[in-house]
Amino acid sequence: MERGPLLYSGKSKRVFETSDPRRVILEFTDEATAFNAKKRATISDKGRINQALSAHLFEAVAAAGVRHHLVEVLSETEALCERVEIVPVEVVVRSTVAGSFAKRYGMEEGAPLSQPLVEWFYKSDELNDPLVGHDAIVELGWARPWELSFMREAALTTHAVIAAFWSELGVDLIDAKYEFGRQDGRLLLADELTPDGCRLWEQGTGRRMDKDVFRRDLADLGDTYRELHQRVFGH
Ligand code: C5P
Repeated sequence: MERGPLLYSGKSKRVFETSDPRRVILEFTDEATAFNAKKRATISDKGRINQALSAHLFEAVAAAGVRHHLVEVLSETEALCERVEIVPVEVVVRSTVAGSFAKRYGMEEGAPLSQPLVEWFYKSDELNDPLVGHDAIVELGWARPWELSFMREAALTTHAVIAAFWSELGVDLIDAKYEFGRQDGRLLLADELTPDGCRLWEQGTGRRMDKDVFRRDLADLGDTYRELHQRVFGH
């Protein structure tokens, strides 16, 4: 499948049309951004590593019955995906207190939650992705009630699969952001399943192994991602 015209250029991914109107090519780039792209860098190998991790995890969640957008890996950084209309609501699942949850409620990072909880954020760079409630999402037409129920269940299932996967490799999944897209009125898990969109802490040490390394200047992000790749693929 050949790349057609560029459809959309995101912060660390690009989406191209293909000759099939129902499919797109998604390319992972080496760009890293944080704080709504106020901070930027190029990290060598990042695109290749994120593509490999994402494809591997999509396969794992499919085995748990979650339908997703990935059709086929095309190259080290490109994948053929179903073309979807992205629901403008980010589904964040949290297992442990961190990030904006810790800040919002005045808590220390690291406190376990009794069970994974779901938060919703409106996808808007202009508004800085505000936290939103069910009623506002429905009222403003961003998703229907059945879609919210579906996304909640699918995100929790996905999260449990990915948490178990990382846990086997000595890494705790702290929280993660999931996105869904519509195709023919059905919802598919979309976007990416990478350490750019979740928090991963090394078991025992709490060492950060995700994009917080870049956001907070904790270590070299490329080295961190190469270590994750090594843990998953052994090279
Ligand atoms: O910042 P916050 O604590 O709300 O983030 C929760 C989780 O969602 C983190 O794993 C973060 O990496 C991810 N996230 C994301 N994209 C955003 C906001 C949050 O991937 N725009």
